[in-house]
Amino acid sequence: MKYYINTNQQSNGDQEVHHNFCSYLPDIKNRKYLGDFYSCIEAVAEAKKNYTAADGCKFCSPTCHNQ
Ligand SMILES: [Zn+2]
Repeated sequence: MKYYINTNQQSNGDQEVHHNFCSYLPDIKNRKYLGDFYSCIEAVAEAKKNYTAADGCKFCSPTCHNQ
């Protein structure tokens, strides 16, 4: 599964991680490709290297969604 991070922060400061089939995937100009991962757990771990506020999307990656 290919994962992307929203490069715009949400109002709570989080930056959500989505897979490429999520209907909430941000516009191409507002997202950054993270890589191909088996699960959102690995995708969020990778995202956190550069984006400390990374969090799984509540809709496509609920197991990785914290807030
Ligand atoms: Zn999503």
